[in-house]
Amino acid sequence: MNPTPQPLSGKVVIVSGGARGLGAAFARRIIERGGRVVIGDILDDDGKQTAYELGDAARYVHLDVTDPDQWTAAVDHAIAEFGSLTGVVNNAGISTGALIEQDTLENFRKVLDINLVGVFNGIRAGITSMRSAGGGSIVNISSAAGLTGLPLTSGYGASKWGVRGLTKVAAVELAAERIRVNSVHPGMTYTPMTAPIGIAEGEGNYPGAPMGRVGTADEIAGAVAFLLSDDAAYMTGAELAVDGGWTAGPTVAQTLGQ
Ligand code: NAD
Repeated sequence: MNPTPQPLSGKVVIVSGGARGLGAAFARRIIERGGRVVIGDILDDDGKQTAYELGDAARYVHLDVTDPDQWTAAVDHAIAEFGSLTGVVNNAGISTGALIEQDTLENFRKVLDINLVGVFNGIRAGITSMRSAGGGSIVNISSAAGLTGLPLTSGYGASKWGVRGLTKVAAVELAAERIRVNSVHPGMTYTPMTAPIGIAEGEGNYPGAPMGRVGTADEIAGAVAFLLSDDAAYMTGAELAVDGGWTAGPTVAQTLGQ
């Protein structure tokens, strides 16, 4: 009997911001499911180390997502190394935490440039190659902050709502070419981005979410791998919240005023 084929066998995916955190977990999961990955990041030492640890199915390329020329080079690298491009995970991002009144215009623009313009560049960079490959899947990493209004996230929240909207525009424009575009909305997840704000992994450490805890990078990776796979062949323009119920509604304790 032939073994069951791996769901991402034959897929070649660029993961932006894949040097660490969620992006590194996505890269690992893609490879575990049979795919190959080009990690693109500005943290060259971390990115090279992550690709080295992932082995033969991984490469690293320097990629600042705000620069369209660097996206072109990343796509060229994927094709040169692995023969095609079938997926892009637009994951690179930065976060900020300030009240609108105290945020600066410079900071607001910087967050939009990386978190939203970077996704615009990533979507555009992949289209021609995916068309040649007969289709593909683009997964845009938005946030729970792209599903609801979270305080202290002015630039971040605006960028993540923008990613959600841009996803739907790209989905309808590219659907006929079999290029699917979906967004994933992680809740509070333990990574180098969130570690400085003092969250901790483990049960009961995040009472604001109905599940009562923060997520792990591995718990977000399954949604990304699913959307990249042919199991999601009829899904485009969708948004998957992976947030322990955070955006579904308040907790029982909050509802009871406890
Ligand atoms: P992280 O800081 O650990 O990783 C982000 C990566 O993006 C880093 O490797 C960083 O170098 C890279 N990056 C930053 N600017 C870049 C640029 N201009 N070009 C290329 N790469 C760049 O953060 P993370 O928690 O892994 O976040 C990954 C994504 O998930 C982000 O888009 C973030 O907004 C989103 N997200 C995270 C959480 C969470 O709780 N951790 C929740 C919701 C959404």
